[in-house]
Amino acid sequence: MTKKVVVNGACGRMGKEVVKTVINDTKDELVGVYDKKNVGENIKSIIGIEQGNKCIIKDDLNQVIKNSDPDVIIDFTTPEIIMENIKTGLTNCVHMIVGTTGITDTDLEEIKELTLKNQVNALIVPNFALGAVLLMKFCTEAAKYMEDAEIIELHHDQKIDAPSGTAIKTAELINQNRNQEKKQKQIEKIAGARGENKNGIHIHSVRLPGLVAHQEVIFGGEGQALTIRHDSYNRKSFMPGVKMALDKITEIDGLVYGLEKIM
Ligand code: NAP
Repeated sequence: MTKKVVVNGACGRMGKEVVKTVINDTKDELVGVYDKKNVGENIKSIIGIEQGNKCIIKDDLNQVIKNSDPDVIIDFTTPEIIMENIKTGLTNCVHMIVGTTGITDTDLEEIKELTLKNQVNALIVPNFALGAVLLMKFCTEAAKYMEDAEIIELHHDQKIDAPSGTAIKTAELINQNRNQEKKQKQIEKIAGARGENKNGIHIHSVRLPGLVAHQEVIFGGEGQALTIRHDSYNRKSFMPGVKMALDKITEIDGLVYGLEKIM
């Protein structure tokens, strides 16, 4: 069935790629776009697509929903606005696919309640890159045998939140699958030198121009180390995951967290 799709954050780095993907690579229909930038302009002109009807950028999500009656909203905006967007989508009974990071456990509880109350689905995906999902799966396996691990996540310098959602999720998965880590006394001469500690796993966040999204997980054991690394070199790397989410969003039941659940 063809789905009517709205893209939130359509003028952003990810949003533009998602708009192109929906138009060029799916059987679904782009019916609306929401962003606070370039309001009143045609998103197709902005991304260089000539064919088809105009799709005008609006800065009021309720209005976009009212005008276009979408089945699904795909959101790549910012951590500051994401919960408001999710609430708007779900209370209007529109399925939500969310790539925006910064969603907390408390937020997930609220999202779950909203999906149940409105009989609608929400797919929250901290990382749409299939390779990154595989990295998390391999780390889960490695943690059973090598319990000491540290995570280095590296992103472009425009990323607002740290650590990345993928790093937090990886730390949670490693922690669930290992025996207790060794506690060792440490003195930080500069606060934060050992990175942020999530469930006893240190996460180091690097922000530099030129990077896209990268993560390295180093497991250490007696006389050996195992490094598992994934690199997204451009934002196209996320699109197979976004298409998979679009295909499956009507088949899931309520809230689903993580692409691995639908792979
Ligand atoms: P971006 O380039 O800054 O795009 C966000 C867009 O949303 C911008 O056009 C921004 O406009 C707009 N926006 C911000 N606040 C808004 C509001 N209140 N109402 C309407 N539009 C608003 O960011 P990005 O790199 O595309 O990333 C977007 C999000 O996706 C981030 O949270 C990022 O961490 C996440 N992400 C997730 C994945 C994944 O696989 N799950 C992959 C990559 C990125 P302004 O520029 O004017 O603020």
